[in-house]
Amino acid sequence: MRFLYSLIFLLLIVTLTVCSIIAKQKKTSIGDAVALLDASLIPPVIGNLIVTISSNELLSTIGFYIFFLGMDIVMFATIRFTVKYCEGTGSGQKVPIPVYLLLIADAAQLLLNTVFHHAFVTEELTVDGSPYYRFVPYFGQTFHRILDYSILFAVLLVFAVTIRNMPRIYRERYTVIVVSMVLAGAWQGFYIISRTPIDRSMIGLAFFGIVIFYFSICYKPVRLLDRMLSKIVSEMTEALFVFDLNGKCIWANDRGYELCGVTNNKPDKLSEKLIEMFGDPEVQNGESIVAHITDKGREVHYYSFEENKVTDEKDKLTGIYLAVRDITEEKMQMKRDIYDATHDRLTGLYTREYLYSSIMEVLETPHTNDHIIIFIDVKNFKIVNDVFGNDFGDYALICISNWIRKNMTAECRYGRLAGDTFGVFMPSEGFHPEKVENDLSHFVVKRDNAVYQLLIHLGIYKIDSSDNDVSVMFDRAHLSLSTISDEYNTHIAYYDNEIRSKVMWAQTISNELDDALKNGEIRPYLQPIADENGRIVGAEALARWIHSKHGFLSPASFIPIFEKNGMIIEVDKFMWHSACSILSKWGSEGRDLFLSVNISPKDFYFMDVASEIKTLVKEHGIDPKMLRTEITETVMMNESDNRIKVMDSLRESGFIIEMDDFGSGYSSLNMLKDMNVDVLKIDMNFLGKSSDKNKARTIVKNVINLSKELGIVSLTEGVETEEQYRILLEMGCKLFQGYYFSKPIPVDDFEKLLEKQNKA
Ligand code: C2E
Ligand code: MG
Ligand code: MG
Repeated sequence: MRFLYSLIFLLLIVTLTVCSIIAKQKKTSIGDAVALLDASLIPPVIGNLIVTISSNELLSTIGFYIFFLGMDIVMFATIRFTVKYCEGTGSGQKVPIPVYLLLIADAAQLLLNTVFHHAFVTEELTVDGSPYYRFVPYFGQTFHRILDYSILFAVLLVFAVTIRNMPRIYRERYTVIVVSMVLAGAWQGFYIISRTPIDRSMIGLAFFGIVIFYFSICYKPVRLLDRMLSKIVSEMTEALFVFDLNGKCIWANDRGYELCGVTNNKPDKLSEKLIEMFGDPEVQNGESIVAHITDKGREVHYYSFEENKVTDEKDKLTGIYLAVRDITEEKMQMKRDIYDATHDRLTGLYTREYLYSSIMEVLETPHTNDHIIIFIDVKNFKIVNDVFGNDFGDYALICISNWIRKNMTAECRYGRLAGDTFGVFMPSEGFHPEKVENDLSHFVVKRDNAVYQLLIHLGIYKIDSSDNDVSVMFDRAHLSLSTISDEYNTHIAYYDNEIRSKVMWAQTISNELDDALKNGEIRPYLQPIADENGRIVGAEALARWIHSKHGFLSPASFIPIFEKNGMIIEVDKFMWHSACSILSKWGSEGRDLFLSVNISPKDFYFMDVASEIKTLVKEHGIDPKMLRTEITETVMMNESDNRIKVMDSLRESGFIIEMDDFGSGYSSLNMLKDMNVDVLKIDMNFLGKSSDKNKARTIVKNVINLSKELGIVSLTEGVETEEQYRILLEMGCKLFQGYYFSKPIPVDDFEKLLEKQNKA
């Protein structure tokens, strides 16, 4: 018997050691607590083992000491384990320090038993035919037992409170511990009360240690997981349906029943209902979207279907589950996002990008009818905003977009290209110019008391089979607008071959300008300027292009193009540079002549005109008054204050400022008021066109007088005849330029002319 129990004890020691090591290796706080508890159980079991096998009183007594003292450590470890196991349940167990002090005191009094024998002594019995020493308890032992049982009781209380506070699904893992603890305690108690010769009490506690190890470290709460998973699945926003291999629905979550409107828990009804609602959705392992019209009203709902196969560990199909999700809101949001990205906020028309791509889409699909592109431009729209305010401006744009919409058919594509421009793409036969002219001849926007007649122009481009860039087509339609001369009576312009060749020409010469400048194809021609005695006192430098392919080009064929695209600054810089070179050469030859150069309005946008000219003069070592600068009134159209500053700064540096083409524009006089100029260049060509010569003469005479009074030198250009020269002389004009003296000529020819004059 004793041998059998000894074997059991040995087995328990080994098991507890293994459990303790495994628990420790988990490296978790609960693992540590279990390792400590299981390790602490080993000494009392060893003590129990010694007592069981020993027939020697001293050895048995030592066994009892190991047993009793070990139990204090077990109590300590049980407390630590309880704290860890029940952690986080809200009770926040804090072990009172006196408990530990009592355990230490108990251990001390047990040790003192060696002196006072107040806790226990041993008595000899005969078991299995050999001496067996059992202990006889005294009050020290009673204290030890009360302390141990009190601790166990307190631990049970903590577990009980924890279980009460736990969600039901978690109670299982606590209850098991409590039950095993009660059983171990009862087993222990049985040996205390029964006093059977052999003490096997530690078997119960050792099992308790193993149970704790199992439930804390090894046990996977399958039922708990099951319950949690089923709860998660039930509460999912997706409707889930599980089908067996015959396609019969065997389970669905609450959403699934809700979706199908099936109230009783009969999943087999769901299969029919799903087919009835959605048809047989063609879904494989993937996603498909099905629209479904609900019974109430005509509300469209969209659902996504996701079907997945369920296989076992051998990859054999065991069933199918279907996840159905209501994606109506997402779909609607997506539609709204797409709409916002493709439609203009104010007018609701397509944005330019979307218009271009939708036109491209039509052009890329086979079609037989011809199409046109219309560029719609509101003239002077800035004035509408400035005078009536932005609200009225917005309203006007909405009126235009409504007018466009009204005239469109399903084949048309139309949108807002930019602030005040719109674009249309439509079949040619759908465009009725007479109706459009009629509509646009009195396009009035009225709101409250404000009334404004909008001036709207349409540029039409007929699409060619070779066209493939929508923006180019709109550019062409836009270009045609420049041909409208009577802008109040003509509202429609067509892109034609003339515009096409103009555009081609502009492109060609723009591409060639750089090389032309480098190769000397652009040259300064000089047109003499004479004084009252007819002597040449200076010249205007005018650009000419001696084109390698097209021959001699007058400025009219390239200057306006470069003025438009800004490349004029290259030409002007070259011309100023050339003028300076000529002046510096003349200076060294002792010629005292000035040269006038033209300054284009665009020059002011792209460079610092004053510093550019000043630097040039300095570099060439020329007297600034020899380089005259000509500006026209268009220079003053924008940022006039700045322009005045630039010109003043040039004057201060000694340059002479000439106002070119005086009288040809609208506000020459106005400009004269604001600006300090030295020379007025009066345009004879403009006056020459007048049918009433007397009137023209009166004007010229008065302008000359005006300049005299203002202390400005007058220069008349376009002098073609001797008579003109004579009359102008009489009128008091100081300087003269025109074909009568000479056309603009190459520098060499000009110098020859000077030689001739000097000889005469
Ligand atoms: P502009 O500065 O007013 O130059 C005077 C224009 O009148 C020149 O035309 C000249 O040839 C022309 N002209 C001179 N005398 C007579 C005449 O008796 N009868 C007639 N019918 N015309 C006469 P051009 O050289 O064709 O230049 C035209 C315009 O081109 C110039 O007008 C000027 O505005 C511009 N331009 C010419 N070269 C340059 C340049 O290098 N830079 C800039 N920015 N513009 C230039
Ligand atoms: Mg000029
Ligand atoms: Mg001029």
